[in-house]
Amino acid sequence: MSSPDERDAAIAADPDALLSVQGLQKHFPVTKGMLRRQVGAVKAVDGVSFDVRKGETLGLVGESGCGKSTTGRLVTRLLEPTGGKVLFEGHDITHMSQAKIRPLRRDIQMIFQDPYSSLNPRHTVGAIVGAPYRIQGIKTEQGTKKAVQEILELVGLNPEHYNRYPHEFSGGQRQRIGIARTLTLRPKLIIADEPVSALDVSIQAQVVNLMADLQKELDLTYVIVAHDLSVIRHISDRVAVMYLGKIVEIADRKDLYESPMHPYTTALMSAVPVPDPARRKDRERIRLQGDVPSPLNPPVACRFHTRCWKAQEICKTVEPPLIELAPRHRVACHFPENAPGSAPVAAGTITV
Ligand code: SF4
Repeated sequence: MSSPDERDAAIAADPDALLSVQGLQKHFPVTKGMLRRQVGAVKAVDGVSFDVRKGETLGLVGESGCGKSTTGRLVTRLLEPTGGKVLFEGHDITHMSQAKIRPLRRDIQMIFQDPYSSLNPRHTVGAIVGAPYRIQGIKTEQGTKKAVQEILELVGLNPEHYNRYPHEFSGGQRQRIGIARTLTLRPKLIIADEPVSALDVSIQAQVVNLMADLQKELDLTYVIVAHDLSVIRHISDRVAVMYLGKIVEIADRKDLYESPMHPYTTALMSAVPVPDPARRKDRERIRLQGDVPSPLNPPVACRFHTRCWKAQEICKTVEPPLIELAPRHRVACHFPENAPGSAPVAAGTITV
């Protein structure tokens, strides 16, 4: 009999996908003693499957430690997967050697969370943004300086600032430099790890809007990792919710935000501020009990059962597979909310 992870991987394969992730795993070994004997493993990512079509944005959300950032690093091959597959344009890149993956670095780029530490303070903006040309040995028709200045303009920076250093820019401008650096080689796929969470709230929207504009202009595909559901809502076409190394729900944005099916998603949604006072009144915030359990020793069967208000005996013994309960809406839960045929439940309403 196939495991839930294998069944999830089988469902995920989409022939039109630019990126296809199938049953992806990353287990970090935990060692002890002088001989560094392995005594366990932190299952940071444990059987994650999803597809991203060309021009689409997938938001990956969840609490800190759920494995969303590790998933982003596995896709860009900054980390070596323990198991599963990563397909890019139909090619298996899961264990491709560094020499073979080098040309692919043009197509897949990553935006990092911290615009302060991700830029080398001793390099000028011109050197930072132009570095991919040097590394890949690419000569541009109009010369590197002109090409870099065009990219700076594209991300809303003054091309005259080519010779300035990162410390001369604000946080928002530094993140624009980070974005400019990813665009140098005209990638097809960008993985953005918490691209605005280190920024002042007042400039977060500017950077999110810039990313949306660049997507249209350059035909980009995004995977955006974030804990902030408001940011994800603004920019994503599809949203995957992760809990303790697994995807528990994945759906089109509207479906996920308007009728979440997994109790964990419902709890996350209940914490999102609602600007409309009339709607706010009807909502009750669900406060999850306890902390996220350790990925070193995750709960068996449904990993959410230790914090779920709907948990029953079966949740502690049988792992719920991620299955499609509505068109393009997959959920891993024995007792989903808002499932077709059941009474609608608003996000934030506890059903006991
Ligand atoms: Fe809760 Fe059970 Fe669903 Fe897990 S399977 S989310 S414990 S109701």
